[in-house]
Amino acid sequence: VDLDTVASYRSARDRADLSLAPGERLLAGGTWLFSEPQPDVTGLVDLTTMGWPAIEEMPDGLRVAATCSIAELAALAPRPGWEARPLVRECANALLMSFKVAGIATVGGNICRAFAAAAMVHLAVALDATAVVWTPDGGQYRQAVADLITGNGTHSLADGEVLRAIEIPLHALRARTAFRKIALAALGRSGAVVSGRVDDDGAAVFAITAATARPTVLRYPALPTAARLRNDATSAGGYYSDPLGAADWRRGVTAVLIEEIRAELAGEPGTR
Ligand SMILES: Cc1cc2nc3c(=O)[nH]c(=O)nc-3n(C[C@H](O)[C@H](O)[C@H](O)COP(=O)(O)OP(=O)(O)OC[C@H]3O[C@@H](n4cnc5c(N)ncnc54)[C@H](O)[C@@H]3O)c2cc1C
Repeated sequence: VDLDTVASYRSARDRADLSLAPGERLLAGGTWLFSEPQPDVTGLVDLTTMGWPAIEEMPDGLRVAATCSIAELAALAPRPGWEARPLVRECANALLMSFKVAGIATVGGNICRAFAAAAMVHLAVALDATAVVWTPDGGQYRQAVADLITGNGTHSLADGEVLRAIEIPLHALRARTAFRKIALAALGRSGAVVSGRVDDDGAAVFAITAATARPTVLRYPALPTAARLRNDATSAGGYYSDPLGAADWRRGVTAVLIEEIRAELAGEPGTR
């Protein structure tokens, strides 16, 4: 849609440009921002002109710029030992989008819009990613992405704070993973997205998004029993109802999917 209240547009080139005047809003890919009226927005500040490298390999993992497009991240080249690599594409595909949206929607925009079904939130939470947040006073802090998301469409960023990047630790990139998603409609937005991970040291982590209003993370020193996992998944808080699924359906399908994932990661016969 045309944002007919917008009277100014600035391309951000350095950090000082990210200081927002009243009515200004950060613009990343714009795929959500331009998808509905924004009556309170009078100016846009384009983040994509900051020139941040999309993906940087660090000694202890990957640093993904907030402005990295979902398509760029999905095209991440495989590396020896990065067993979790397929999860990147699986999560990207969970956000049923056209190639046009994939090419411009950003990792940071998806996380900051913070929908429960946000595909990049799932990826970040599943791989223990940390958000690097720039504060308006020139500082920065780090926070687990799982804690940054506070509800369906809400996050903990204060006014003027900018998500600079997410950092994915190497131990998570090296993990074996399994992934499932379900939606009420074949091409509908996800009703439940569930993944599991087993690290080199045997620790197991399960992530649930879309089914619960904010991310749910279950951690174990080793793969849990089916009964324990089912109990933990179904007794987690936050299952919610909306047109994309009822809370009890979301809880029920999560229990089924998480058991499929546990069995797959355990290498049980008959699993993928
Ligand atoms: C056809 C279509 C289908 C969609 N399907 C889904 C779906 O299945 N699941 C889902 O989660 N979403 C879905 N979305 C919405 C989705 O969240 C956005 O399309 C996209 O991921 C947002 O990325 P963007 O870069 O375009 O962000 P923008 O639209 O540019 O920005 C989104 C919001 O985040 C803020 N923002 C952006 N970057 C930063 C940053 N670095 N720091 C602080 N704030 C920032 C902006 O100010 C804005 O409020 C869909 C959208 C469309 C158009």
